[in-house]
Amino acid sequence: MARTKGRNAGWGEETLAVHAGEFVDPVTRASSPNLVMSSTFAPEKLTGFSARDEQGYEGFIYGRVSSPTVKQLEDKLAALEGAESALAFASGVAAAHALICGRLSKGDHIIVPDANYVGIAELTRDTLPRFGIDASFVDLSDLGAVAAAIRPNTRMLWLETPANPTMKLCDIAALAKLAHDRGVRDVAVDSTYATPIATQPLSLGADFVVHSLTKYFCGHGDAMGGAVIGRKTELASLNLEASVHFGGILSPFNAWLIMRGAATLPIRMRAHESAAMKVAAFLDQHPAVSRVFYPGLASHPQHELARRQMKNFSGMMTFQTKRPGPEIAARMVDELEIIHYAVSLGHHRSLIYWIGTDDIQGSTFRHDAAQLKRYRDYAGDGVFRLSVGIESPDDLIADLARVLTLS
Ligand SMILES: *Cc1c(COP(=O)(O)O)cnc(C)c1O
Repeated sequence: MARTKGRNAGWGEETLAVHAGEFVDPVTRASSPNLVMSSTFAPEKLTGFSARDEQGYEGFIYGRVSSPTVKQLEDKLAALEGAESALAFASGVAAAHALICGRLSKGDHIIVPDANYVGIAELTRDTLPRFGIDASFVDLSDLGAVAAAIRPNTRMLWLETPANPTMKLCDIAALAKLAHDRGVRDVAVDSTYATPIATQPLSLGADFVVHSLTKYFCGHGDAMGGAVIGRKTELASLNLEASVHFGGILSPFNAWLIMRGAATLPIRMRAHESAAMKVAAFLDQHPAVSRVFYPGLASHPQHELARRQMKNFSGMMTFQTKRPGPEIAARMVDELEIIHYAVSLGHHRSLIYWIGTDDIQGSTFRHDAAQLKRYRDYAGDGVFRLSVGIESPDDLIADLARVLTLS
């Protein structure tokens, strides 16, 4: 079977996005990747029955271990992150679960951000302790606080930058160095908001990158997926445990859709960024808006770090309004004509959602009193999370102006 190894050397990111992982089908000469839905494969020679026995065999045997279309997507993801290897999963949360539970054991300790993606925040706070894994929730912009939280049994530092929904950044290079110097084995970065077009965490010293492929990689809001990206040997053992035993693998159909989306990731990210800059500048000067958090604005508290760590400021922002958020959110549901009032992000369509502080502190960000206070100091009664799509920015601005104008 045709392999792409070695073909990627020296290609630019636009070329990688289109061609990495893809090849002309040797049988049909099809130029586009095949969608191979088969769950089982007829081996060319006698192979073992358990996944461990199959390790010496190059081909495919069973879809939970690996399958051709998923493998093509994985090769494209690895190439875009400048990594040796990638493993795809059914969702971003399935990828996070695979990495955390595949790498940590009873008695281990993980450090996670004090505000990050809700599903992962709840997994680490509510589920891991049931299996004897302790989690600490730390403000990652404070290196001293991270250093103080490291224990002899700390095995993983989990970063997310920019973080959902706070838009807080963390300094990957500084944190990876700090953690490794103090004996923390794994530094993992949820890079869903940034994408490799903005930041390549492995080149900054991280060991693993995690993505919700549901967001920018797919880019069109029609397939869920997730990935863990990193070194070949570590991902090979993660495949044996997390894919084979936990089973949260990606459907080939979703892989095929996400691969098509990923081909245009570089040009979409440029379009997202350029529209988001205009929308953020509009919101920043609007009398009904009290605060905008967008890494590309000089007013972002970590704009200097954003400039250093992000080649692209992405399309994500949050903002606060002077009038109560729920009142404006209700108008958005009824009156927005282009932007969808809906969760998720990173799609070609713009999406907006109100994240009320009482709500999210009730469900998610309630680790301790200091954290409750920090989050409320930042978010007030809540924030609007806006994922700027690739529509004409002037139309998005007109849509927002209509619902923000005080009547
Ligand atoms: C959406 C998201 C996830 C979870 O991904 P799913 O595909 O919804 O499971 C994880 N991290 C971040 C930053 C996200 O935005």
